[in-house]
Amino acid sequence: MPVDLTPDPLAADLAQRTAAFVRDVVVPVEAEHGGVVSSESVRSGLQRAAKERGLFAPHVGAEYGGHGLRMLGRAVVFEEAGYSLLGPLALNIAAPDEGNMHLLEAAATPAQRERYLRPLAAGEIRSCFAMTEPAPGAGSDPAALTTRAVRVRGGWRIEGRKWFITGADSAGFTICMARTSGAPGETAGATMFLVDADNPGMSTVRHIETLDESLYGGHAEVVFDDCVVGDDAVLGEVDAGFRYAQARLGPARMTHCTRWLGIARRAQDIAVARAAERAGS
Ligand SMILES: Cc1cc2nc3c(=O)[nH]c(=O)nc-3n(C[C@H](O)[C@H](O)[C@H](O)COP(=O)(O)OP(=O)(O)OC[C@H]3O[C@@H](n4cnc5c(N)ncnc54)[C@H](O)[C@@H]3O)c2cc1C
Repeated sequence: MPVDLTPDPLAADLAQRTAAFVRDVVVPVEAEHGGVVSSESVRSGLQRAAKERGLFAPHVGAEYGGHGLRMLGRAVVFEEAGYSLLGPLALNIAAPDEGNMHLLEAAATPAQRERYLRPLAAGEIRSCFAMTEPAPGAGSDPAALTTRAVRVRGGWRIEGRKWFITGADSAGFTICMARTSGAPGETAGATMFLVDADNPGMSTVRHIETLDESLYGGHAEVVFDDCVVGDDAVLGEVDAGFRYAQARLGPARMTHCTRWLGIARRAQDIAVARAAERAGS
């Protein structure tokens, strides 16, 4: 049976207006900053411009200021935003915030949504997602998870080391995946925790160099050392973290692809334009 991939009128309209916004507003800013946003004023300026045009955070529900786009709608809009390296940041649909909003909408309590999702969806704060660990910890195989959270009075104490954590620098909060039962290698026993940036038990110890510099907040190594959080920091159910990881990472892998489709199209446009104007041998 053929699959109908025609976006609905709302998504089609948003995609068209996003394309114009990226071309007219974002690409000139990108040219000025070499594709790297290194200041809050540039980030907030781009986001203000997207808000003024009604293009901001289109994936979240209407109660958080968006349009609740489903995957097909996200695909066409995110591709247009991805035409500039800074487009996703402007629309507040960049990794890891976009995936974190998706997870918070799916798994957070009403109080957690007010505390974390609302300001995140509004672009007032940023976030990060801490799953990957140095070997032999979680990587391609998240079941290798070694970071532990043990019960303490009224909450949990997290101990462990994470790396390649996108956006960790100056993030308002972290969603940290830690083992609350079982042993490394077992595909159960993980829990998601919401850790505030001012928690003294969490620190960014290193910025890791990567080829890409367009994702705001870099890619950092983060240490959890005597990091105590309350019971209200548990996101979803205890020991169900692998299920939430799938709920977060499945769509996030798709939206990575849709954003990168946009920049692939841009790269081809640049190459074609260059080939067409190039003269001589
Ligand atoms: C730019 C960037 C941003 C990132 N952002 C985040 C983030 O925000 N949060 C986060 O938690 N993580 C993040 N990551 C980490 C990313 O999720 C991991 O790099 C990825 O899961 C792979 O894990 P690893 O690096 O430990 O590689 P490994 O798991 O050690 O894999 C190394 C190589 O071995 C291969 N391999 C692994 N297992 C097998 C097997 N059983 N059989 C055969 N081959 C195998 C892999 O395919 C790969 O080629 C980021 C990484 C990068 C590069």
